[in-house]
Amino acid sequence: MNRQALIQALIPQSVRDGQAYQVADATGLIKLDAMENPFVWPESLQETLAAQLSRAALNRYPDPHATQVRQPLRDWMQIPESLEMLFGNGSDEVIALLISNCIATGRAVCAPDPSFVMFRVLAHQYQVPFYGLPLDDAHDIDLDRWLSVIEETQPGIIFVPQPNNPTGNLFQTERLQRVVDQTQALVVIDEAYTAFTDANYLAWAEEAPNVVIMRTLSKVGMAGSRFGMLIGHPDWIGEFDKIRLPYNINALTQIAVRFALEHADVLESQSAAIRTERARLSDALRMRRIDVWPSEANFVVVQTPPSQARAWFEKLKQHGILVKCLDGAHPSLADTLRITVGAPHETDALLSALDQFTAD
Ligand SMILES: *Cc1c(COP(=O)(O)O)cnc(C)c1O
Repeated sequence: MNRQALIQALIPQSVRDGQAYQVADATGLIKLDAMENPFVWPESLQETLAAQLSRAALNRYPDPHATQVRQPLRDWMQIPESLEMLFGNGSDEVIALLISNCIATGRAVCAPDPSFVMFRVLAHQYQVPFYGLPLDDAHDIDLDRWLSVIEETQPGIIFVPQPNNPTGNLFQTERLQRVVDQTQALVVIDEAYTAFTDANYLAWAEEAPNVVIMRTLSKVGMAGSRFGMLIGHPDWIGEFDKIRLPYNINALTQIAVRFALEHADVLESQSAAIRTERARLSDALRMRRIDVWPSEANFVVVQTPPSQARAWFEKLKQHGILVKCLDGAHPSLADTLRITVGAPHETDALLSALDQFTAD
């Protein structure tokens, strides 16, 4: 038997033609490319956590309901009793679970374009039709065009990151409200950046029959634990819970997340520091006459001179700083870089690198 012939026969062409998810190598670099929290825990807390992790019952399957993190999360996020929660191995898994439902219904998935790539990637993987919803010049919801795409394609799910990644802005509430009112789709408001904005749409999940909220701990300092969540009416969550993998939140993650929530003051002060640093970074860039897009997230998008984004990316890398080059990902992202807000010394290193090479 010939292995290549078997692969040809058994792995779909769409998979063979694709490639695995690419992550840039950040070895030795200041990492400002992936919206991570730059701060680590105080050493005494690390030691307490290590002791708790060392006692984890790794011989047993984890609690399938992650009971120990439920109430702490409810308290911290002020989730009302009328709403239920479902947890995922990162929001990526929650997105996959939601989209996998569309295989059987034949319904499409919609999300803003440009937006978080996983919506499109996972729809493609499940062979669920995906339609981008265009943004206007202010990166806001282009309402007429959204409503006509939605009318034409009758999606089963509309993902709306609020604020959006990679543009960083909040969509206008009135426009989002119109989208929710006018569609029969489930609208998933993705609040991945909730720690960095005052906007909060939890109440919509209580009031509207077709809204659920997605959140993650990735942006507040727990990216390595892979913990995402869906918050919604018990009827919605009950259905999705039937297709969740039984032990998707491992025992170590459950312990680490509970521990983090017991010290939520640390998460909060770190997120507050990032918000302060976002303002300082944006001001410092504008003082250098660099165009910065307004951001409600833990990153900013900067506009380089025409056709300079790739060169700036490479020069920053030579100075030991890894950012994300958005140029080429979408026409509206031409000549842009996305820079995650780092610790103060990382901001200083970034500014000093910019000063050096923009002076040439
Ligand atoms: C970063 C991000 C997520 C988080 O994904 P995880 O799998 O939880 O790390 C989700 N949605 C958006 C829009 C994001 O930018």
